[in-house]
Amino acid sequence: MSNQVRPKPKKDDHSDNSLSGLSSVVEVLPLPPTNTKFYFPLAARESIIMPKFHFFLFKPNRFPSRSSFFNSHFASSSSSYLLNRTTQRQASTAFSYFHRLLPYSHNSLFQGIPFSKSLGKTTIGNFTSFCTEPDRESLEYDVVIIGAGPAGLSAGIRLKQMCREKNVDLSVCVVEKGAQVGAHIISGNVFEPRALDELLPEWRQEEAPISTPVTSDQFWFLTKDRALSLPCPFNNEGNYVISLSQFVRWMGVKAEELGVEIYPGFAASEILFDANNKVIGIGTNDMGISKDGSKKETFQRGVEIKGRITLLAEGCRGSLSEKIIKRYNLREKGSAQHQTYALGIKEVWEVDKGKHQPGAVLHTLGWPLDHKTYGGSFLYHMKDRQISIGLVVALDYQNPFMNPYEEFQSLSLSCLVDQKLKHHPAIKPFLEGGTVIQYGARTLNEGGFQSIPYPVFPGGAIIGCSAGFLNVPKIKGTHTAMKSGMLAAEVTFGVLNEGLDMDIYWDTLRKSWIWEELYKARNYRPAFDYGLIPGLAISALEHYILKGRYPFTLKHGKPDHKATNAAKLHSPIHYSKPDGVLSFDVPTSLHRFMHEIDTSYEQKVELEKRSNTNHEHDQPPHLRLRDPKIPELINLPVYAGPESRYCPARVYEYIPDEQNQPKLQINAQNCLHCKACDIKDPKQNIEWTVPEGGGGPGYSIM
Ligand SMILES: Cc1cc2nc3c(=O)[nH]c(=O)nc-3n(C[C@H](O)[C@H](O)[C@H](O)COP(=O)(O)OP(=O)(O)OC[C@H]3O[C@@H](n4cnc5c(N)ncnc54)[C@H](O)[C@@H]3O)c2cc1C
Ligand code: SF4
Repeated sequence: MSNQVRPKPKKDDHSDNSLSGLSSVVEVLPLPPTNTKFYFPLAARESIIMPKFHFFLFKPNRFPSRSSFFNSHFASSSSSYLLNRTTQRQASTAFSYFHRLLPYSHNSLFQGIPFSKSLGKTTIGNFTSFCTEPDRESLEYDVVIIGAGPAGLSAGIRLKQMCREKNVDLSVCVVEKGAQVGAHIISGNVFEPRALDELLPEWRQEEAPISTPVTSDQFWFLTKDRALSLPCPFNNEGNYVISLSQFVRWMGVKAEELGVEIYPGFAASEILFDANNKVIGIGTNDMGISKDGSKKETFQRGVEIKGRITLLAEGCRGSLSEKIIKRYNLREKGSAQHQTYALGIKEVWEVDKGKHQPGAVLHTLGWPLDHKTYGGSFLYHMKDRQISIGLVVALDYQNPFMNPYEEFQSLSLSCLVDQKLKHHPAIKPFLEGGTVIQYGARTLNEGGFQSIPYPVFPGGAIIGCSAGFLNVPKIKGTHTAMKSGMLAAEVTFGVLNEGLDMDIYWDTLRKSWIWEELYKARNYRPAFDYGLIPGLAISALEHYILKGRYPFTLKHGKPDHKATNAAKLHSPIHYSKPDGVLSFDVPTSLHRFMHEIDTSYEQKVELEKRSNTNHEHDQPPHLRLRDPKIPELINLPVYAGPESRYCPARVYEYIPDEQNQPKLQINAQNCLHCKACDIKDPKQNIEWTVPEGGGGPGYSIM
């Protein structure tokens, strides 16, 4: 976007903006009692409550009077995002109090009158707010980043670092669909600090949530009832066992300290283009629309957030990123193959002290997956007696009766009784006597080097797992996501200040260690298309002897959605009921209807710890069927309704209709945002779109 349409106000413009009257209202009204202790930092409050409101109203750096008000009465600390529900309740109290102090803004919010409209055009802080459509706000930044994951936050931090180094001011904003930064982040996570060492080298002296170095590394091959120890192909020396959702919260605080503006609870639902087909930012979806499309009392129009550069950091299978890849033919442009994926299902357990070995890392291959299905499990000992355990299943599996959730959880009754992952005799002892704290699921990229699209489009770039930089043999993508964000940030800075071309990002990527890593690892995953044993042999040869010097590059097989066989080629798999001790059914894992469950507050808090998933029920479905007839015409008769099994949140259920005919019911409010349905549906008939911002899982230690 040119500077013509992006007038850039001076930083201290607040004094003469049209809100000054409002500021004085704040100052003369009574303040909360001085003995009231609110541990309710601004960022967290916004993230929890603001999704329903116009988010720019309470940003402290834009409203100095409010900022000083809050700073003097609410504790703001680096743990701002680490709120539990108890503090959220304190937050609500504080928020209502603040609302009482701001009758004007309160009214404009609740009557659905856009704030800038009710006050006239406002010029606030680093951006200008004006309407390009009736009742739709438009905000402008130099750089808009979609997604507050490792990639997006690294890009924001690097941009602001460069601004400091070169004494330039760029406005940078990050929108995040989770209610808080980290709420939608789920990973293993064994963390390789290479990119962080480059980005924030001082992290080791700070209180970063990276405190459990890897102490041991084991690799097992599981058979039905045994575990065989193999030479460990991983080298996790110098790496750490962390919770990625906690890590990104810390990164969020670092980014805000540098001046990045982060807006959790805002889902980017559309890309904005100019007349020349150039991306000029994103739009967030309208809120307060009911299932039937009518506006509810809480209706709030979405906003346009425009950027001179837009960076897409949505993670694996980003919904907007996929659209951009198609629109600009970025796969073809980068000579890339299709992307391939896996689904990761994970729990965090609290275990007995005697079983806990902080930093111990275990990976397994083989059982419970058959030899044609690529995947394996991980078990990482975190800090505080916590264990992270998960099963990763490649989504090119063939048997439509396979249920990844049950392979992770339960027993199978197909022959006699087969013990799936958590009941396996070698795994069970780790968990016995422990408690599940959280549950979640997310897809990850497995295409690697062969599947990276050209990551630049007119007006921006794709970074992190949206482009697919995960290193499959390492099962690590955090460090590469971060590095790609940093590289894109450096090029973006050059584009905005030195007239560089965004295409340089592609060149810098190919000269970086990301490329070197992914190139060396390129044949590992496709080798397993030939089966488990040939895959192990080829990858061992590559890993130990050739070290990436194979004179060829293997291609990936079919895209995941085409890999599912017809049901008639397989026998159904009967999984047993969970025992409620080691294994659990999906509703128990989700525990999302906290407000509808009649339990004590303590019980609710306990249950809520699991996946904490919730969406506003009365909203248009965010899981859309391109053709509503396909489930009953094709998916059920041909593939035995695989969506009812691969979805780890039981969103899809075939239930009898009035004529007693099976009909697909979509329980969209359960959705964990894993994106498996968008990837695996055999006819690519399911489109995953963003729901209202702030909905979905509420991970805190995943
Ligand atoms: C089960 C599992 C285990 C893994 N184990 C490891 C490991 O041990 N080590 C390792 O290094 N890596 C691991 N990874 C990979 C690692 O998690 C990813 O590589 C990394 O998280 C990618 O970072 P990202 O920023 O690209 O995307 P993400 O971390 O996915 O972040 C994307 C963010 O964007 C937000 N977002 C998406 N779309 C929108 C939108 N439209 N509007 C607003 N916000 C949006 C999301 O809510 C999210 O917060 C694992 C992944 C999984 C699933
Ligand atoms: S509906 Fe789709 S995205 Fe949501 S949890 Fe199920 S498979 Fe994952």
